[in-house]
Amino acid sequence: MAPFRSHGQNPRAADPGWLGIEGTVGVVAGILAGSIALVAFGLDSGIEGLASIIVVWRFTGTRTTSSAAERTAQKWVAVSFYLLAPYVAVEAIEKLIEGTAAETSWLGIGLTTGTLVLCPLLGIAKQRIGANLESRATYGEGTQNVLCAILAGAVLVGLAANTLFGL
Ligand SMILES: [Zn+2]
Repeated sequence: MAPFRSHGQNPRAADPGWLGIEGTVGVVAGILAGSIALVAFGLDSGIEGLASIIVVWRFTGTRTTSSAAERTAQKWVAVSFYLLAPYVAVEAIEKLIEGTAAETSWLGIGLTTGTLVLCPLLGIAKQRIGANLESRATYGEGTQNVLCAILAGAVLVGLAANTLFGL
C-alpha cells in the first residue's frame, strides 16, 4: 500500500487531532455560551473523530493489506454513520427553521468557520484516497466530514445571526 505512505507524512495522523479539537472546543464553547447547538455540534464531532480513529486502526501495521480489517472498519464506520446522519439532518433543518435562542459565541463562530473550511477538504481528500485504495471505510469516513461541514454551516448561521444582528 505504497500510495498511502509515499506522501511522507501520513495524513491520518493529523486528522483525529483536528476532530478532537473540534469536539472539545465545540462542547466547551457551547457550555460557556449556553448553546445547545454548539454542544451538540461538539458531540457530533466526537462521533466523527471515532470514525477517523477506526480508519487509522484499519491502516496500521499488517492490517493495511488485510481485507478482513477493511470489512471490520467498514462495518464500524457504517455504524457511526447511522448514528450521525439522521442526527445531522434533523439538527441542521431544525436550526435553519427555528434559529437558536439568544446564543452568542465568538469561539463558536471561529470553530464552525474553521470546520466549514477544513472538514470539506478532509472529506474530499479521504473520498479520493478511499477510491484509490478501494477502501469503502475510508470513503465513508470522508462522507462524514462533509456531513459535519453541513452541520457546522447551520450552527454558524444561527450563531452569526445572534451575534451580529442580535436576533
Ligand atoms: Zn468535522
